Amino acid sequence: MLHYKPDVHRTSDVVRQAIIPLSRPSGVAYAVTMMEGACSLPDAIVTHNWGNLFRDLVAGICADALGLSEYALVSDLLDTDVVALESMLANSGKIQKTYWVCAFCIAQHSCICQTISAGDVDPVHGTEHPTCDCGRPKSFNNTPEVDASGLVFRLTFVLFVFLFVVLCFSIKKNRCFSLL
Ligand SMILES: [Zn+2]
Repeated sequence: MLHYKPDVHRTSDVVRQAIIPLSRPSGVAYAVTMMEGACSLPDAIVTHNWGNLFRDLVAGICADALGLSEYALVSDLLDTDVVALESMLANSGKIQKTYWVCAFCIAQHSCICQTISAGDVDPVHGTEHPTCDCGRPKSFNNTPEVDASGLVFRLTFVLFVFLFVVLCFSIKKNRCFSLL
């Protein structure tokens, strides 16, 4: 996503033009690639709105790791001095802190990759986001629990909800924070 602009691109734009294409070869959540297959319980779970700037999502997470109560300074550093921000995180001893973020931790090729909402366009190019042609089976809230062959599709989402609840009770300090 070489045309990324932090002041206009939302999380949804990054999902459509970076996370989905980058995770297409594996078809699994992009976090699996980012973590090189290593498993880790998150230290915190982040709830957020995909319509907000992706920069501010990252800034909110970095601010939390730094123990800051707001993220404006970090957003500014992401725009102007990422090296300084990396140094701050390294010096804080929290650079290895782990966060669960849906955009990265859910397999987008099992749900949304091949469809986009009407009017969901790239804010720089003004064109609709590309859709994925991976052809992997999809599961949504309204997907029948069992198809004609007897396969259980909705189990994916039941397991997701179960996993989320388990994570909420398992993560250190039971921490969830919201960037809604
Ligand atoms: Zn796909």
